[in-house]
Amino acid sequence: MTENERIELANLLYPDLKHDTKYYEEKYPERKLAEGAMVTRYAPSPTGSVHLGNLLSAFADMVYARQSGGSFYLRIEDTDQKRMIEGGIENITSVLHDFDILPNEGYSFGGDYDPYIQSERTEIYQTYIKDLIIKGYAYPCFMKEEEIQAIREEQEINKTKIGIYGVYAVDRDLSLEEVKSRIDQGEEYVIRLKSFGDPNKEIEIVDCIKGKMKFPEHNVDTVLLKKDGTPTYHFAHAIDDHLMHTTHVIRGDEWVSSLPLHYQLFQILGFKPVHYAHIAPITIKDQETGNIRKISKRKDPWFGVKYYEENGIPIDALHLYLATITNTNFEEWYLNNSDKSIEDFHFSFDKQAIGGTSFDEAKLVNLCKTYFSRKSGKEVYEETLEWAKKHDFEYAELLEKNKEDMIQFFGIEKDGPRPRKDISKYSEVKEEFSYAIDELFEKENYSKYDGDKVYDVELVLDYVDNHLDLDTNNEEWFNQMREFALNNGYAASPKDYKNDPDSFKGHVGDICEAIRVMITGRLKSPDLFSIMKILGKDKIIKRIKMYENVCIK
Ligand code: GLU
Repeated sequence: MTENERIELANLLYPDLKHDTKYYEEKYPERKLAEGAMVTRYAPSPTGSVHLGNLLSAFADMVYARQSGGSFYLRIEDTDQKRMIEGGIENITSVLHDFDILPNEGYSFGGDYDPYIQSERTEIYQTYIKDLIIKGYAYPCFMKEEEIQAIREEQEINKTKIGIYGVYAVDRDLSLEEVKSRIDQGEEYVIRLKSFGDPNKEIEIVDCIKGKMKFPEHNVDTVLLKKDGTPTYHFAHAIDDHLMHTTHVIRGDEWVSSLPLHYQLFQILGFKPVHYAHIAPITIKDQETGNIRKISKRKDPWFGVKYYEENGIPIDALHLYLATITNTNFEEWYLNNSDKSIEDFHFSFDKQAIGGTSFDEAKLVNLCKTYFSRKSGKEVYEETLEWAKKHDFEYAELLEKNKEDMIQFFGIEKDGPRPRKDISKYSEVKEEFSYAIDELFEKENYSKYDGDKVYDVELVLDYVDNHLDLDTNNEEWFNQMREFALNNGYAASPKDYKNDPDSFKGHVGDICEAIRVMITGRLKSPDLFSIMKILGKDKIIKRIKMYENVCIK
Protein backbone atom coordinates (compact mmCIF):
# COMPACT_ATOMS: atom_id res chain seq x y z
CA MET A 1 0.00 0.00 0.00
CA THR A 2 1.11 3.52 -0.69
CA GLU A 3 1.16 6.07 2.08
CA ASN A 4 -2.08 7.60 0.85
CA GLU A 5 -3.73 4.22 0.83
CA ARG A 6 -2.55 3.60 4.38
CA ILE A 7 -4.00 6.95 5.43
CA GLU A 8 -7.28 5.99 3.80
CA LEU A 9 -7.22 2.64 5.58
CA ALA A 10 -6.44 4.23 8.96
CA ASN A 11 -9.33 6.66 8.54
CA LEU A 12 -11.61 3.85 7.49
CA LEU A 13 -10.75 1.81 10.59
CA TYR A 14 -10.73 4.71 13.05
CA PRO A 15 -12.95 7.47 11.72
CA ASP A 16 -14.09 8.96 15.00
CA LEU A 17 -11.03 9.40 17.19
CA LYS A 18 -11.18 12.71 19.01
CA HIS A 19 -7.47 13.43 19.12
CA ASP A 20 -4.14 12.67 17.51
CA THR A 21 -0.98 11.40 19.20
CA LYS A 22 0.40 14.93 19.48
CA TYR A 23 -2.52 15.81 21.72
CA TYR A 24 -1.64 13.03 24.16
CA GLU A 25 2.06 13.80 24.07
CA GLU A 26 1.23 17.34 25.14
CA LYS A 27 -1.46 16.36 27.60
CA TYR A 28 0.96 14.18 29.54
CA PRO A 29 4.24 16.07 29.90
CA GLU A 30 7.10 14.65 31.91
CA ARG A 31 6.94 15.17 35.69
CA LYS A 32 9.17 17.88 37.00
CA LEU A 33 11.49 15.71 39.03
CA ALA A 34 15.13 15.95 39.98
CA GLU A 35 17.75 14.24 37.86
CA GLY A 36 17.89 10.52 38.66
CA ALA A 37 14.40 10.39 40.15
CA MET A 38 12.76 7.10 39.28
CA VAL A 39 9.17 6.75 38.16
CA THR A 40 7.96 3.24 38.87
CA ARG A 41 4.62 1.55 38.66
CA TYR A 42 2.82 -1.43 40.05
CA ALA A 43 0.70 -2.69 37.17
CA PRO A 44 -1.35 -5.67 38.30
CA SER A 45 -4.06 -7.43 36.36
CA PRO A 46 -7.14 -8.08 38.48
CA THR A 47 -7.20 -11.72 37.41
CA GLY A 48 -6.42 -13.37 40.76
CA SER A 49 -5.81 -12.59 44.40
CA VAL A 50 -2.71 -10.63 45.31
CA HIS A 51 0.21 -12.81 46.43
CA LEU A 52 3.64 -12.41 47.97
CA GLY A 53 5.29 -12.08 44.53
CA ASN A 54 3.03 -9.11 43.75
CA LEU A 55 3.81 -7.50 47.08
CA LEU A 56 7.49 -7.95 46.41
CA SER A 57 7.38 -6.10 43.10
CA ALA A 58 5.14 -3.34 44.49
CA PHE A 59 7.51 -3.00 47.43
CA ALA A 60 10.50 -2.65 45.09
CA ASP A 61 8.58 -0.05 43.07
CA MET A 62 7.91 1.88 46.23
CA VAL A 63 11.41 1.89 47.69
CA TYR A 64 13.22 2.76 44.46
CA ALA A 65 10.85 5.65 43.74
CA ARG A 66 10.94 6.89 47.32
CA GLN A 67 14.68 6.88 47.77
CA SER A 68 15.27 8.69 44.48
CA GLY A 69 12.63 11.36 45.10
CA GLY A 70 10.53 10.00 42.24
CA SER A 71 7.01 8.74 41.89
CA PHE A 72 5.38 5.35 42.35
CA TYR A 73 1.99 4.84 40.76
CA LEU A 74 -0.66 2.15 40.48
CA ARG A 75 -1.97 1.18 37.07
CA ILE A 76 -4.72 -1.40 36.69
CA GLU A 77 -4.13 -3.61 33.66
CA ASP A 78 -7.59 -4.93 32.99
CA THR A 79 -7.33 -5.60 29.27
CA ASP A 80 -8.10 -9.27 29.71
CA GLN A 81 -11.74 -8.83 30.66
CA LYS A 82 -12.45 -12.55 30.36
CA ARG A 83 -10.02 -13.44 33.14
CA MET A 84 -11.04 -10.63 35.50
CA ILE A 85 -12.25 -11.82 38.90
CA GLU A 86 -14.99 -10.20 40.89
CA GLY A 87 -13.66 -7.73 43.41
CA GLY A 88 -10.17 -8.06 41.90
CA ILE A 89 -9.53 -4.33 41.66
CA GLU A 90 -10.80 -3.58 45.18
CA ASN A 91 -8.62 -6.40 46.45
CA ILE A 92 -5.55 -4.80 44.89
CA THR A 93 -6.14 -1.39 46.42
CA SER A 94 -7.11 -2.75 49.82
CA VAL A 95 -4.02 -4.97 49.97
CA LEU A 96 -1.81 -1.97 49.19
CA HIS A 97 -3.45 -0.10 52.06
CA ASP A 98 -3.30 -3.05 54.46
CA PHE A 99 0.35 -3.69 53.71
CA ASP A 100 1.31 -0.05 53.71
CA ILE A 101 2.77 -0.16 50.23
CA LEU A 102 1.18 3.04 49.11
CA PRO A 103 1.64 4.53 45.66
CA ASN A 104 1.73 8.30 45.63
CA GLU A 105 -0.42 8.42 42.51
CA GLY A 106 -2.44 6.14 40.29
CA TYR A 107 -5.73 4.32 40.19
CA SER A 108 -7.77 5.36 43.23
CA PHE A 109 -4.86 7.53 44.39
CA GLY A 110 -5.29 10.30 41.79
CA GLY A 111 -2.69 12.02 39.64
CA ASP A 112 -2.10 13.84 36.38
CA TYR A 113 -1.73 10.82 34.10
CA ASP A 114 -5.19 9.40 34.44
CA PRO A 115 -7.04 7.31 33.58
CA TYR A 116 -4.80 4.83 35.37
CA ILE A 117 -6.94 1.88 34.31
CA GLN A 118 -6.48 0.41 30.86
CA SER A 119 -10.13 -0.26 30.08
CA GLU A 120 -10.65 3.50 30.07
CA ARG A 121 -7.78 4.19 27.69
CA THR A 122 -9.02 2.39 24.56
CA GLU A 123 -9.26 5.62 22.59
CA ILE A 124 -5.62 6.42 23.38
CA TYR A 125 -4.41 3.01 22.19
CA GLN A 126 -6.42 3.30 18.99
CA THR A 127 -4.96 6.73 18.32
CA TYR A 128 -1.45 5.31 18.40
CA ILE A 129 -2.46 2.27 16.35
CA LYS A 130 -3.90 4.57 13.71
CA ASP A 131 -0.53 6.28 13.55
CA LEU A 132 1.29 2.96 13.20
CA ILE A 133 -1.02 1.89 10.37
CA ILE A 134 -0.23 5.12 8.54
CA LYS A 135 3.49 4.52 9.06
CA GLY A 136 3.16 0.95 7.78
CA TYR A 137 4.01 -0.70 11.11
CA ALA A 138 0.61 -2.27 11.74
CA TYR A 139 -2.12 -3.87 9.69
CA PRO A 140 -5.54 -5.49 10.03
CA CYS A 141 -5.43 -9.28 9.98
CA PHE A 142 -8.54 -11.32 9.23
CA MET A 143 -7.15 -14.78 9.91
CA LYS A 144 -9.59 -17.11 11.61
CA GLU A 145 -8.87 -18.99 14.85
CA GLU A 146 -8.85 -22.33 12.99
CA GLU A 147 -6.31 -21.06 10.45
CA ILE A 148 -4.02 -19.85 13.21
CA GLN A 149 -4.42 -23.13 15.08
CA ALA A 150 -3.55 -25.14 11.97
CA ILE A 151 -0.41 -23.04 11.48
CA ARG A 152 0.53 -23.60 15.07
CA GLU A 153 0.20 -27.35 14.72
CA GLU A 154 2.31 -27.33 11.60
CA GLN A 155 4.96 -25.24 13.34
CA GLU A 156 4.96 -27.59 16.30
CA ILE A 157 5.47 -30.59 14.02
CA ASN A 158 8.23 -28.83 12.08
CA LYS A 159 9.72 -27.51 15.31
CA THR A 160 9.86 -24.00 13.92
CA LYS A 161 9.11 -20.83 15.76
CA ILE A 162 5.46 -20.45 16.72
CA GLY A 163 3.51 -17.43 15.51
CA ILE A 164 2.35 -15.42 12.55
CA TYR A 165 5.39 -14.20 10.62
CA GLY A 166 6.94 -14.51 7.16
CA VAL A 167 4.93 -16.84 4.96
CA TYR A 168 2.38 -17.36 7.69
CA ALA A 169 1.50 -13.67 7.83
CA VAL A 170 -0.91 -13.96 4.94
CA ASP A 171 -2.74 -10.67 5.52
CA ARG A 172 0.39 -8.58 5.86
CA ASP A 173 0.30 -7.24 2.35
CA LEU A 174 -3.37 -7.15 1.48
CA SER A 175 -4.38 -4.41 -0.93
CA LEU A 176 -6.60 -1.59 0.26
CA GLU A 177 -9.41 -2.92 -1.98
CA GLU A 178 -9.22 -6.34 -0.42
CA VAL A 179 -9.22 -4.98 3.14
CA LYS A 180 -12.20 -2.81 2.32
CA SER A 181 -14.18 -5.63 0.81
CA ARG A 182 -13.51 -7.97 3.73
CA ILE A 183 -14.58 -5.31 6.18
CA ASP A 184 -17.70 -4.72 4.07
CA GLN A 185 -18.47 -8.40 4.33
CA GLY A 186 -18.38 -8.02 8.10
CA GLU A 187 -15.21 -10.05 8.64
CA GLU A 188 -13.63 -9.57 12.08
CA TYR A 189 -10.02 -8.53 12.37
CA VAL A 190 -7.23 -7.85 14.83
CA ILE A 191 -4.45 -5.33 14.36
CA ARG A 192 -1.03 -6.92 14.09
CA LEU A 193 2.41 -5.48 14.28
CA LYS A 194 4.08 -5.45 10.86
CA SER A 195 7.37 -6.54 12.25
CA PHE A 196 10.53 -5.48 10.45
CA GLY A 197 12.79 -7.60 12.63
CA ASP A 198 15.44 -9.91 11.24
CA PRO A 199 15.94 -12.93 13.51
CA ASN A 200 19.47 -13.35 12.19
CA LYS A 201 20.39 -10.06 13.80
CA GLU A 202 20.85 -9.53 17.50
CA ILE A 203 19.73 -6.83 19.85
CA GLU A 204 21.33 -6.13 23.18
CA ILE A 205 19.33 -5.01 26.19
CA VAL A 206 20.81 -4.10 29.54
CA ASP A 207 18.49 -5.12 32.33
CA CYS A 208 19.06 -3.29 35.62
CA ILE A 209 19.10 -6.56 37.52
CA LYS A 210 20.11 -9.22 35.00
CA GLY A 211 22.68 -7.11 33.18
CA LYS A 212 23.47 -7.39 29.49
CA MET A 213 21.20 -9.72 27.52
CA LYS A 214 21.26 -10.60 23.82
CA PHE A 215 18.25 -11.67 21.79
CA PRO A 216 17.48 -12.27 18.13
CA GLU A 217 15.38 -9.43 16.73
CA HIS A 218 11.64 -9.89 17.10
CA ASN A 219 10.06 -10.89 13.79
CA VAL A 220 6.57 -12.09 14.71
CA ASP A 221 3.53 -10.07 13.69
CA THR A 222 2.20 -10.00 17.23
CA VAL A 223 -1.38 -8.93 17.90
CA LEU A 224 -1.50 -5.37 19.19
CA LEU A 225 -5.25 -4.74 19.24
CA LYS A 226 -7.75 -7.54 19.72
CA LYS A 227 -10.95 -8.00 17.77
CA ASP A 228 -12.88 -5.88 20.23
CA GLY A 229 -10.46 -3.01 19.70
CA THR A 230 -8.78 -3.33 23.09
CA PRO A 231 -5.02 -3.74 23.34
CA THR A 232 -2.89 -6.70 24.29
CA TYR A 233 -0.60 -6.32 27.30
CA HIS A 234 2.42 -5.68 25.09
CA PHE A 235 0.95 -2.74 23.25
CA ALA A 236 -0.74 -1.22 26.29
CA HIS A 237 2.50 -1.46 28.26
CA ALA A 238 4.42 0.48 25.62
CA ILE A 239 1.82 3.24 25.33
CA ASP A 240 1.14 3.58 29.05
CA ASP A 241 4.70 3.45 30.27
CA HIS A 242 5.57 6.06 27.67
CA LEU A 243 2.68 8.44 28.35
CA MET A 244 2.95 7.99 32.11
CA HIS A 245 6.71 8.57 31.88
CA THR A 246 7.77 5.46 33.71
CA THR A 247 11.54 5.41 33.97
CA HIS A 248 11.91 1.88 35.39
CA VAL A 249 9.66 -1.03 34.57
CA ILE A 250 10.14 -3.39 37.51
CA ARG A 251 8.27 -6.62 36.83
CA GLY A 252 8.43 -10.39 37.11
CA ASP A 253 11.00 -12.10 34.93
CA GLU A 254 8.35 -14.10 33.08
CA TRP A 255 8.34 -11.01 30.84
CA VAL A 256 11.99 -11.28 29.81
CA SER A 257 11.11 -13.28 26.71
CA SER A 258 8.85 -10.42 25.54
CA LEU A 259 11.67 -7.89 25.68
CA PRO A 260 12.57 -8.03 21.96
CA LEU A 261 8.95 -7.26 21.12
CA HIS A 262 8.77 -4.40 23.61
CA TYR A 263 12.06 -3.03 22.35
CA GLN A 264 10.71 -3.03 18.80
CA LEU A 265 7.44 -1.41 19.84
CA PHE A 266 9.27 1.45 21.52
CA GLN A 267 11.38 1.82 18.37
CA ILE A 268 8.50 2.02 15.89
CA LEU A 269 6.50 4.26 18.19
CA GLY A 270 9.49 6.58 18.44
CA PHE A 271 9.46 6.44 22.25
CA LYS A 272 12.41 6.97 24.55
CA PRO A 273 13.29 3.49 25.90
CA VAL A 274 12.52 2.68 29.52
CA HIS A 275 14.83 0.82 31.86
CA TYR A 276 13.79 -2.70 32.71
CA ALA A 277 14.41 -4.50 35.98
CA HIS A 278 13.21 -8.08 35.91
CA ILE A 279 12.71 -9.63 39.32
CA ALA A 280 13.36 -13.33 39.77
CA PRO A 281 10.48 -15.37 41.14
CA ILE A 282 10.29 -16.45 44.74
CA THR A 283 11.12 -20.12 44.98
CA ILE A 284 10.97 -22.78 47.69
CA LYS A 285 12.51 -26.12 48.44
CA ASP A 286 9.64 -28.56 48.07
CA GLN A 287 9.07 -30.46 51.33
CA GLU A 288 8.21 -33.67 49.53
CA THR A 289 10.61 -33.78 46.60
CA GLY A 290 13.43 -31.59 47.92
CA ASN A 291 13.49 -29.81 44.55
CA ILE A 292 13.50 -26.05 44.16
CA ARG A 293 10.23 -24.88 42.68
CA LYS A 294 8.25 -21.65 42.25
CA ILE A 295 6.08 -20.95 45.25
CA SER A 296 2.48 -21.83 44.74
CA LYS A 297 -0.78 -20.54 46.15
CA ARG A 298 -2.06 -24.05 46.61
CA LYS A 299 0.90 -25.57 48.43
CA ASP A 300 2.38 -22.63 50.33
CA PRO A 301 0.00 -20.79 52.63
CA TRP A 302 2.34 -17.83 53.13
CA PHE A 303 2.21 -17.08 49.41
CA GLY A 304 -1.25 -15.60 49.89
CA VAL A 305 -1.25 -12.26 51.66
CA LYS A 306 -4.06 -13.15 54.10
CA TYR A 307 -1.62 -15.40 55.92
CA TYR A 308 0.36 -12.46 57.28
CA GLU A 309 -2.57 -10.61 58.77
CA GLU A 310 -4.23 -13.71 60.16
CA ASN A 311 -1.04 -14.96 61.79
CA GLY A 312 -0.18 -11.59 63.20
CA ILE A 313 3.03 -10.94 61.33
CA PRO A 314 3.64 -7.21 61.67
CA ILE A 315 3.46 -5.32 58.40
CA ASP A 316 6.74 -3.57 59.14
CA ALA A 317 8.41 -6.92 59.76
CA LEU A 318 7.10 -8.22 56.46
CA HIS A 319 8.58 -5.10 54.86
CA LEU A 320 11.91 -6.10 56.39
CA TYR A 321 11.57 -9.51 54.80
CA LEU A 322 10.64 -8.03 51.41
CA ALA A 323 13.69 -5.80 51.75
CA THR A 324 15.92 -8.83 52.32
CA ILE A 325 14.58 -10.39 49.13
CA THR A 326 14.97 -7.10 47.27
CA ASN A 327 18.60 -6.57 48.24
CA THR A 328 20.90 -9.36 49.34
CA ASN A 329 22.87 -7.05 51.67
CA PHE A 330 19.84 -5.70 53.51
CA GLU A 331 19.53 -8.29 56.26
CA GLU A 332 23.07 -7.95 57.52
CA TRP A 333 22.78 -4.18 57.44
CA TYR A 334 19.54 -4.25 59.41
CA LEU A 335 20.80 -6.68 62.03
CA ASN A 336 23.92 -4.59 62.53
CA ASN A 337 22.15 -1.25 62.75
CA SER A 338 19.75 -1.43 65.64
CA ASP A 339 18.81 2.25 65.43
CA LYS A 340 17.98 2.28 61.71
CA SER A 341 14.89 1.52 59.66
CA ILE A 342 14.22 0.61 56.01
CA GLU A 343 14.05 4.28 55.03
CA ASP A 344 17.74 4.61 55.94
CA PHE A 345 18.87 1.82 53.64
CA HIS A 346 19.97 2.50 50.08
CA PHE A 347 18.54 -0.10 47.70
CA SER A 348 20.33 -0.82 44.48
CA PHE A 349 19.57 -3.06 41.53
CA ASP A 350 23.03 -4.59 41.56
CA LYS A 351 22.31 -6.08 44.98
CA GLN A 352 19.24 -7.83 43.66
CA ALA A 353 19.36 -11.61 43.21
CA ILE A 354 19.46 -12.63 39.55
CA GLY A 355 18.20 -16.19 40.00
CA GLY A 356 15.21 -17.19 42.09
CA THR A 357 15.16 -16.03 45.68
CA SER A 358 14.05 -18.79 47.94
CA PHE A 359 11.45 -18.20 50.60
CA ASP A 360 13.07 -18.70 53.96
CA GLU A 361 10.63 -18.98 56.80
CA ALA A 362 13.39 -19.08 59.41
CA LYS A 363 14.69 -15.78 58.09
CA LEU A 364 11.25 -14.24 58.25
CA VAL A 365 10.82 -15.45 61.83
CA ASN A 366 14.22 -14.12 62.84
CA LEU A 367 13.49 -10.71 61.32
CA CYS A 368 10.15 -10.64 63.10
CA LYS A 369 11.86 -11.45 66.40
CA THR A 370 14.38 -8.71 65.82
CA TYR A 371 11.54 -6.36 64.97
CA PHE A 372 9.73 -7.12 68.24
CA SER A 373 12.94 -6.95 70.25
CA ARG A 374 13.41 -3.35 69.11
CA LYS A 375 9.93 -2.33 70.22
CA SER A 376 9.28 -0.91 73.68
CA GLY A 377 6.81 -2.61 76.01
CA LYS A 378 4.28 0.08 75.19
CA GLU A 379 4.65 -0.42 71.45
CA VAL A 380 4.29 -4.19 71.74
CA TYR A 381 1.21 -3.61 73.88
CA GLU A 382 -0.43 -1.20 71.45
CA GLU A 383 0.29 -3.23 68.32
CA THR A 384 -0.79 -6.51 69.89
CA LEU A 385 -3.98 -4.93 71.17
CA GLU A 386 -4.80 -3.59 67.72
CA TRP A 387 -4.26 -7.03 66.19
CA ALA A 388 -6.21 -8.80 68.96
CA LYS A 389 -9.18 -6.48 68.49
CA LYS A 390 -9.59 -8.01 65.05
CA HIS A 391 -8.54 -11.60 65.68
CA ASP A 392 -8.89 -12.46 69.38
CA PHE A 393 -11.50 -10.37 71.07
CA GLU A 394 -11.21 -12.10 74.43
CA TYR A 395 -7.49 -11.39 74.58
CA ALA A 396 -8.04 -7.78 73.55
CA GLU A 397 -10.33 -7.32 76.56
CA LEU A 398 -7.81 -8.91 78.90
CA LEU A 399 -5.06 -6.70 77.53
CA GLU A 400 -7.14 -3.60 78.10
CA LYS A 401 -8.01 -4.69 81.62
CA ASN A 402 -4.35 -5.28 82.49
CA LYS A 403 -2.85 -2.45 80.48
CA GLU A 404 -0.23 -1.07 82.87
CA ASP A 405 1.05 -4.48 83.96
CA MET A 406 1.21 -5.75 80.36
CA ILE A 407 3.26 -2.79 79.22
CA GLN A 408 5.71 -3.67 81.97
CA PHE A 409 5.76 -7.39 81.13
CA PHE A 410 6.37 -6.66 77.44
CA GLY A 411 9.16 -4.29 78.43
CA ILE A 412 11.20 -6.81 80.48
CA GLU A 413 14.83 -7.08 79.28
CA LYS A 414 14.32 -4.61 76.48
CA ASP A 415 16.80 -1.97 77.58
CA GLY A 416 20.16 -3.71 77.37
CA PRO A 417 22.41 -4.09 74.33
CA ARG A 418 20.88 -7.51 73.57
CA PRO A 419 17.13 -7.05 73.98
CA ARG A 420 14.93 -10.10 74.47
CA LYS A 421 14.00 -11.94 71.31
CA ASP A 422 10.99 -14.03 72.15
CA ILE A 423 7.97 -13.35 70.03
CA SER A 424 7.75 -13.33 66.26
CA LYS A 425 4.02 -12.74 65.75
CA TYR A 426 1.16 -11.01 67.51
CA SER A 427 -0.57 -14.39 67.60
CA GLU A 428 2.19 -15.77 69.85
CA VAL A 429 2.00 -13.05 72.48
CA LYS A 430 -0.98 -14.48 74.34
CA GLU A 431 0.63 -17.83 74.96
CA GLU A 432 4.14 -16.54 75.48
CA PHE A 433 2.94 -14.16 78.18
CA SER A 434 0.04 -16.20 79.52
CA TYR A 435 1.46 -16.09 83.07
CA ALA A 436 1.05 -12.33 83.00
CA ILE A 437 -2.73 -12.48 83.20
CA ASP A 438 -4.47 -14.34 86.05
CA GLU A 439 -7.38 -15.59 83.95
CA LEU A 440 -5.05 -17.15 81.37
CA PHE A 441 -2.65 -18.52 83.95
CA GLU A 442 -5.44 -20.16 85.88
CA LYS A 443 -6.81 -21.74 82.75
CA GLU A 444 -3.38 -23.07 81.85
CA ASN A 445 -3.10 -24.72 85.24
CA TYR A 446 0.59 -25.76 85.03
CA SER A 447 -0.03 -27.68 81.84
CA LYS A 448 2.99 -25.93 80.29
CA TYR A 449 5.41 -27.35 82.85
CA ASP A 450 7.28 -30.18 81.20
CA GLY A 451 9.74 -31.09 83.97
CA ASP A 452 9.40 -33.90 86.48
CA LYS A 453 10.40 -32.24 89.75
CA VAL A 454 8.21 -31.52 92.71
CA TYR A 455 9.27 -28.28 94.33
CA ASP A 456 9.37 -27.36 97.99
CA VAL A 457 6.35 -25.17 98.60
CA GLU A 458 7.14 -24.52 102.25
CA LEU A 459 10.60 -23.21 101.44
CA VAL A 460 9.33 -20.89 98.73
CA LEU A 461 6.46 -19.62 100.84
CA ASP A 462 8.86 -18.86 103.70
CA TYR A 463 11.12 -17.02 101.27
CA VAL A 464 8.34 -14.90 99.79
CA ASP A 465 6.63 -14.22 103.09
CA ASN A 466 9.66 -13.36 105.17
CA HIS A 467 12.59 -12.49 102.91
CA LEU A 468 11.53 -11.22 99.49
CA ASP A 469 12.04 -7.47 99.09
CA LEU A 470 10.43 -6.19 95.89
CA ASP A 471 11.53 -2.60 96.40
CA THR A 472 15.16 -3.29 95.77
CA ASN A 473 17.14 -3.70 92.54
CA ASN A 474 17.95 -6.85 90.66
CA GLU A 475 21.51 -7.19 91.98
CA GLU A 476 20.60 -6.64 95.60
CA TRP A 477 17.69 -9.05 95.26
CA PHE A 478 19.98 -11.77 94.03
CA ASN A 479 22.45 -11.19 96.87
CA GLN A 480 19.61 -11.64 99.34
CA MET A 481 18.52 -14.74 97.46
CA ARG A 482 22.00 -16.26 97.83
CA GLU A 483 21.96 -15.55 101.51
CA PHE A 484 18.59 -17.19 101.87
CA ALA A 485 19.90 -20.18 99.92
CA LEU A 486 22.91 -20.57 102.20
CA ASN A 487 20.79 -20.25 105.33
CA ASN A 488 18.57 -23.04 104.08
CA GLY A 489 21.21 -25.57 103.13
CA TYR A 490 21.60 -24.59 99.46
CA ALA A 491 24.87 -23.48 97.83
CA ALA A 492 25.14 -19.78 96.93
CA SER A 493 26.18 -20.64 93.35
CA PRO A 494 26.06 -23.62 91.00
CA LYS A 495 29.85 -23.76 91.16
CA ASP A 496 29.94 -24.13 94.93
CA TYR A 497 27.42 -26.90 94.65
CA LYS A 498 29.38 -28.70 91.98
CA ASN A 499 32.55 -28.59 94.07
CA ASP A 500 30.88 -30.16 97.07
CA PRO A 501 27.51 -31.67 96.19
CA ASP A 502 27.22 -33.73 99.34
CA SER A 503 27.12 -30.68 101.60
CA PHE A 504 24.10 -29.04 99.95
CA LYS A 505 20.50 -29.80 99.03
CA GLY A 506 21.04 -27.94 95.79
CA HIS A 507 22.01 -24.39 94.81
CA VAL A 508 20.45 -20.96 94.55
CA GLY A 509 19.35 -21.61 90.95
CA ASP A 510 17.18 -24.48 92.14
CA ILE A 511 15.26 -22.17 94.44
CA CYS A 512 14.83 -19.66 91.62
CA GLU A 513 13.60 -22.48 89.42
CA ALA A 514 11.05 -23.47 92.03
CA ILE A 515 9.74 -19.91 92.24
CA ARG A 516 9.68 -19.57 88.48
CA VAL A 517 7.70 -22.74 87.97
CA MET A 518 5.25 -21.83 90.71
CA ILE A 519 4.53 -18.33 89.44
CA THR A 520 4.86 -18.75 85.66
CA GLY A 521 4.16 -22.45 85.20
CA ARG A 522 7.24 -22.93 83.06
CA LEU A 523 10.96 -23.58 83.31
CA LYS A 524 11.98 -20.65 81.13
CA SER A 525 10.78 -17.10 81.42
CA PRO A 526 12.06 -13.55 81.18
CA ASP A 527 13.89 -12.13 84.19
CA LEU A 528 12.34 -13.61 87.34
CA PHE A 529 12.75 -10.61 89.62
CA SER A 530 11.08 -8.33 87.06
CA ILE A 531 8.15 -10.72 86.84
CA MET A 532 7.82 -10.88 90.61
CA LYS A 533 7.93 -7.09 90.88
CA ILE A 534 5.05 -6.70 88.43
CA LEU A 535 2.96 -9.48 89.99
CA GLY A 536 3.44 -8.28 93.56
CA LYS A 537 3.49 -10.39 96.71
CA ASP A 538 -0.22 -11.17 96.93
CA LYS A 539 -0.37 -12.69 93.47
CA ILE A 540 2.88 -14.55 94.01
CA ILE A 541 1.54 -16.14 97.16
CA LYS A 542 -1.77 -16.94 95.47
CA ARG A 543 0.10 -18.76 92.71
CA ILE A 544 2.31 -20.70 95.12
CA LYS A 545 -0.87 -21.95 96.78
CA MET A 546 -2.31 -22.80 93.41
CA TYR A 547 0.81 -24.82 92.66
CA GLU A 548 0.44 -26.62 95.93
CA ASN A 549 -3.19 -27.46 95.18
CA VAL A 550 -2.67 -28.50 91.60
CA CYS A 551 0.73 -30.20 91.68
CA ILE A 552 1.23 -31.50 95.21
CA LYS A 553 -2.08 -32.28 96.83
N1 GLU B 1 -0.23 -6.74 34.18
C1 GLU B 1 0.99 -7.46 34.16
C2 GLU B 1 0.89 -8.63 35.12
O1 GLU B 1 0.10 -8.57 36.04
C3 GLU B 1 2.09 -6.56 34.65
C4 GLU B 1 3.39 -6.75 34.06
C5 GLU B 1 4.15 -5.46 34.22
O2 GLU B 1 4.41 -5.07 35.39
O3 GLU B 1 4.47 -4.83 33.23
O4 GLU B 1 1.58 -9.59 34.96
